[in-house]
Amino acid sequence: MSEKNFKTATFEEKMKMLYSKMSEKQQKNGREQIIYMCREYCGKCPSYEGTGEESLAFCMVGKSSVITEKKACLCGQCPITRTMGLRWGYYCINGNALELSQAEK
Ligand code: SF4
Ligand code: SF4
Repeated sequence: MSEKNFKTATFEEKMKMLYSKMSEKQQKNGREQIIYMCREYCGKCPSYEGTGEESLAFCMVGKSSVITEKKACLCGQCPITRTMGLRWGYYCINGNALELSQAEK
């Protein structure tokens, strides 16, 4: 898939492509980059702040064990949403993007 096609691909197509092409080290680096970026969004989100949660990147890792109240979700502003074609939100409560994708089937 060319770079242009990647940009317009769905989340599911992007996941397939990334996981078939990336080495474990690249996947680990990718996860670290997502966490780094997420700090600026989940880390500052009203649903997150004050809960004592320290994990990040819920779109990848899934539900938080402590976040229960949907006060707002900043995922729509996060570059990962655009880059990965994410189309959901409140991953900390609803589960990770793969689970949400599979739930649609
Ligand atoms: S997933 Fe959305 S609602 Fe949950 S902490 Fe992150 S930005 Fe906030
Ligand atoms: S899309 Fe949401 S959960 Fe995923 S990295 Fe961005 S802010 Fe965090």
